[in-house]
Amino acid sequence: PGLLKVCIVGSGNWGSAVSKLIGANIINAPEFDKTVKMYVFEEILDATFGENSGKKLTAVINTKHENVKYLKGHRLPDNIVAEPDLVVAAQDADYLIFVLPHQFIGKALDNLTGKIKPSAVGMSLVKGLYNPEKTNIRLLSTVITDKLKIPMGVLMGANVANEVADGLFCETTIAFKELKQGQIFKKLMQTPDFRITVIKDVTNAELCGALKNIVAFAAGVSDGVFGEKTNTKAAIIRLGLMEMMKFAEQFFPGGTPETFLQSCGIGDLVTSCFGGRNRKVGEAFAASPAKTLDDLSKEMLGGQQLQGARTAEEVNYFLSHKGKEKDFPLFTAVHQICKKEMAPNKLIDAIRQHPEHH
Ligand code: NAD
Ligand code: 13P
Repeated sequence: PGLLKVCIVGSGNWGSAVSKLIGANIINAPEFDKTVKMYVFEEILDATFGENSGKKLTAVINTKHENVKYLKGHRLPDNIVAEPDLVVAAQDADYLIFVLPHQFIGKALDNLTGKIKPSAVGMSLVKGLYNPEKTNIRLLSTVITDKLKIPMGVLMGANVANEVADGLFCETTIAFKELKQGQIFKKLMQTPDFRITVIKDVTNAELCGALKNIVAFAAGVSDGVFGEKTNTKAAIIRLGLMEMMKFAEQFFPGGTPETFLQSCGIGDLVTSCFGGRNRKVGEAFAASPAKTLDDLSKEMLGGQQLQGARTAEEVNYFLSHKGKEKDFPLFTAVHQICKKEMAPNKLIDAIRQHPEHH
């Protein structure tokens, strides 16, 4: 009794990787309940899953301690318990860690409203923005706070999930207005190879995580068109960074520019533009004009979800509503390429006259 409970809301590639960190760390944190519930969007594994085909994903996670679909080959700690009912998973949690692909957050919040502890604290690992009205754009952490009435921070960083699960050294950024809250999540997640800096600037940290997915897609297009040449890609990364900073300054003023130097900023941009799924699918999309993004995502990602194209669209709705598309030529071009309104090999023409060069 009295022990603090943690729930991980989401169990894809990243949610499963962080469950390894949290499940192991919590054993040594006496104030916490050792059992960590993880909300798993239930599915029946298909014929490609061999001995597991026809089984529920939650059942496989709870008996074999492996997320065979989204993080194959990694044993999850025994104290991570998969739960298919979101409310059951989250209702008694003191700390909620949101890690669903961003398009599923709205529905999850509808289900959770009024069902969680009023004293709970949340942290979002979700890289994306919220724009269902198409005219305004909001931070997901703000949307979660408004709906669930709980304080929220974020964890954003240069963290390709499979590499984190492999235990390779990396850094990340936790941002919380109340640094004390950030320190609690740090305790749950930091390891000798997963180094965490806690800052206060939630706004810029979250914007970095969301917007870099657009830039990473552009970096992939560059790879697909030019074959991994690096000067062009460096220009795309830098211009992308300038657009990210301008977007933050114009539409979400009040953040600190130094945040762009944290792992959530330049760090995540680098890893995502060289590794990462957005880069990979961007490259394939540029190289195979007959295929749609949906085809490629299905072929290449095994059920994982591409975030960059969706974010480019959401940002584009917002920018076009504000009459600002021309101030963000890279963001705008990525959206047009994804929609097949622009050929991938026209990306450079779209950024040649970039405002940064005027
Ligand atoms: P993912 O790309 O592996 O997506 C698959 C997940 O979506 C699965 O858990 C699946 O069950 C779930 N899903 C599918 N349909 C659903 C539905 N209708 N409702 C609810 N859930 C559904 O997910 P991920 O990689 O864990 O990404 C989650 C977030 O973390 C994203 O915002 C991503 O940008 C961010 N992120 C990912 C990585 C990474 O390397 N994978 C690293 C850092 C941050
Ligand atoms: P992708 O979604 O492009 O794989 O990026 C993962 C990530 O956010 C790395 O930090």
